[in-house]
This record gives sequence, structure tokens and C-alpha cells, in this order.
Amino acid sequence: MGRKFFVGGNWKCNGTTEQVKKIVATLNEGQVPSEDVVEVVLSPPFVFLSMVKDCLRSDFQVAAQNSWVKKGGAFTGEISAEMLVNLGVPWVILGHSERRALLSESNEFVGDKVAYALAQGLKVIACIGETLEQRESGTTMEVVAAQTKAIAERVTNWDDVVLAYEPVWAIGTGKVASPEQAQEVHCGLRDWLLTNVSPEVASSTRIIYGGSVTASNSNILAHQPDVDGFLVGGASLKPEFIDIIKAAE
Ligand code: PGA
Repeated sequence: MGRKFFVGGNWKCNGTTEQVKKIVATLNEGQVPSEDVVEVVLSPPFVFLSMVKDCLRSDFQVAAQNSWVKKGGAFTGEISAEMLVNLGVPWVILGHSERRALLSESNEFVGDKVAYALAQGLKVIACIGETLEQRESGTTMEVVAAQTKAIAERVTNWDDVVLAYEPVWAIGTGKVASPEQAQEVHCGLRDWLLTNVSPEVASSTRIIYGGSVTASNSNILAHQPDVDGFLVGGASLKPEFIDIIKAAE
């Protein structure tokens, strides 16, 4: 079976109640390919998750932007995977580069979070990606392989994992990776999964691209053989997100 195209919208730390209602209304009216063709997952901030889940069209799903590394308890400010399951939230984004950089989340910590979230029944969008410095020093594949390895060492079932390749230099900068750059890393990651996990996981795991995806660059990126979708930040807050979903066709 082919890999179903996946489009995630990461709203990050943005939005008021009014803005969220407006975005959801726009999404609900949008004409997009059917659920058989594309899986669409929106990730609002925690405080809006229930509201978005309740008023969002039924063919789109929601994701949290983070979850705690283990069972809940005395961890002020954290949200546990169990709570997300209890709320009926099916997905969680883990290892986003903003959290890796600003909150010092290590490869191992992200791997532990992915394993714990999966064990609770969540599906995971696991983010990886190199900095500009790492790309310029020629270590891109080494970096993303190490990030993937920390996940692979802790995870046995890859059915509920989507791997999001997001070069840090492309996030929120307007500097999108070229289709060739994206394809090269996605293909390298699939090879890594083939060698280090299994042929089945390599061929079935969706590897999506994130970093300055817009309506105008989504089509050409979507045509790369190893690009199975997108994780969209800024443009997911705008009506053009509907056009990005259409790149699945
Ligand atoms: P961007 O963010 O689309 O605004 O570059 C992508 C992301 O951080 O997931």
C-alpha cells in the first residue's frame, strides 16, 4: 500500500479565541481531496485543543504540540500523554526544533517522549533536522541519522510514527529547502530506516517536510518521490493552508 499524503498544521504559540474560530471556519469551508488521499492534522496550542477538536470538520484531526516524557504527576506546567488520550486527541508533535533549541530537549529525551506517547496510544509526528551550521559543515545526514537513531532505539512499532524532516534554517525564515535538498535528505532517511530498522518500515513510514512551506512551493516539493507530505507552520494559520493540502492530489 502506498504512503498516504500527510499535511500537518503547526500553529505554535499563536492565536486568540476569535482568531482560532476564524481559522477553523475557513478550514471547514475549504474544498480538499478526500480522506483516502490525504490525512490532515491541525496542532493548536493546548488551551485551544478541545475547542478546535469540537468544531473542526470530521475529516481533519488534531495534534498536541508536546507531551510529558512519562506518566503525569508533580510536573508543573506539563501535559501528559494520558491526558491527551483522555481528551480524545489522537496525535502529538514531539522533538520540534524550537523545543530542542530553546528548551534543550536532547535526542534521547525526545526518543523517550516518542516511546512513551506511542505506548499510551498516541500517534507521533517526530521532528528532526539540522541547523545551518551543520548543513554548511556537511554533517546533515549524520545529524538527522543520530536524531532518528535515538527514536529507533526506543520504538518497535513505527505504524503510528510520521517523521518530519525540518531543516532548522528553513523554519520561519522564508528559505525553503529546494526540492532536491529535501528529496536528498528524505531518501537518505529512508535508506537509514532500511538499513537500521527494516525494509517494511522504510517503505511504509511517511517522511514529511517542514520549513517555509507555502502554497506556491508545496506542489513541486510534493512531487519528490520521498516527500510524503508537510508540516506547515506560518502558512497553516492562513487560508493558503487549503491550497497546501491540495498538493496531495
Ligand atoms: P514554518 O514552520 O512553516 O513557519 O517555517 C514549520 C514548523 O516549524 O513546523
